[in-house]
Amino acid sequence: MEAKVKSHSEMDRTVIKPISDWSVYKQRPLVISGPCSAESEEQVMETARILAATGRCDVFRAGVWKPRTKPGGFEGVGSIALKWMNRVSREYGLPVAIEVAKEKHVYEALKYGIDILWIGARTTTNPFSIQEIADTLKGVDVTVLVKNPVNPELNLWMGAIERINKAGITRIGAIHRGFSCYENEVYRNTPKWQIPVELRRRMPDVPIISDPSHMAGRQDYLGEISQKAMDLNFDGLMIESHVQPEKAWSDSKQQIYPGSLVSLLDSLEIKPDSLSEVGLSDILDELRDQIDIFDDQLMEILEQRFRVSEEIGLKKRKLNIEPLQSDRRVQVINRALKRGKEKGFGAGFTREIFEIIHRESLNRQIRKMKTSR
Ligand code: PEP
Ligand code: MN
Repeated sequence: MEAKVKSHSEMDRTVIKPISDWSVYKQRPLVISGPCSAESEEQVMETARILAATGRCDVFRAGVWKPRTKPGGFEGVGSIALKWMNRVSREYGLPVAIEVAKEKHVYEALKYGIDILWIGARTTTNPFSIQEIADTLKGVDVTVLVKNPVNPELNLWMGAIERINKAGITRIGAIHRGFSCYENEVYRNTPKWQIPVELRRRMPDVPIISDPSHMAGRQDYLGEISQKAMDLNFDGLMIESHVQPEKAWSDSKQQIYPGSLVSLLDSLEIKPDSLSEVGLSDILDELRDQIDIFDDQLMEILEQRFRVSEEIGLKKRKLNIEPLQSDRRVQVINRALKRGKEKGFGAGFTREIFEIIHRESLNRQIRKMKTSR
């Protein structure tokens, strides 16, 4: 019999346990909630008390060490909060999760019996850090969740999951928290849904938990993002909650009251889990969901393009230049035709689309030039 030759990464990978075998999992979605940061013992205990009383929270989260973009921000209260997390688990029976970014964090977390470790988006971008964490986790039985990297790079995300799995971790999940973007976007972090969808296609046994809080960046978008994650059959939700969201020391705009978790979850339409019996119509639905994602992105990109056109309008006005410059129009269309050809698009199709886009951009420029006088 011909032996199947395994690829290097396949060879070293340990089995990944389905989420239904995790002791913290009751039903879809697995719900993880709690504050962005642990601030004080009272804040942690009070948030956990209310969450536990809702009966809808499966895991309590809090950031103990906070990776801040700039120095001078609140960097977490540190190890002292591990005692508070441990108290949450003992007094309210909630499994607890914290973020780890280096060897010391892992040691400390394990010392205090933390049930779930998650790796933050900034850490996932750095294979040195991931390998350090993986080496520390060898021989340890703990659940690890890996957030997507801040940049939209699926291989980094998969690489991090593989490194952790190769260390022997079998309860491993991915957290989709969106991707940072230089342009002004509707959301704080752009979802780019096709990336977690592709992750699931390539690593079907890795459960995916959606983190609407960090994608939305504000409370009022949490519902629509959570619904989308459920429609895509993702396995869980991580939602930040705080007893006084407006006074939170980090991510105050996106946190909700712990009691509001119930109405958020009740507002979701959860279709029965079809993972075990994926029929043709499910696949069709999923493909349609992907089309919707791409259409949303087309709209967002168009909006950004028009915004830049308006900006150009303002500059042209300052320089006293006419809005329509026909050589630029020819340039735009020719460039599109060349790119379109590489992608296998017919010239008629590309020309038609770009004529319309260019015309709309020009109209907006003219309007902007008039209104800003
Ligand atoms: C967090 O979960 O509070 C956090 C810091 O998230 P991220 O790594 O996704 O930015
Ligand atoms: Mn946060």
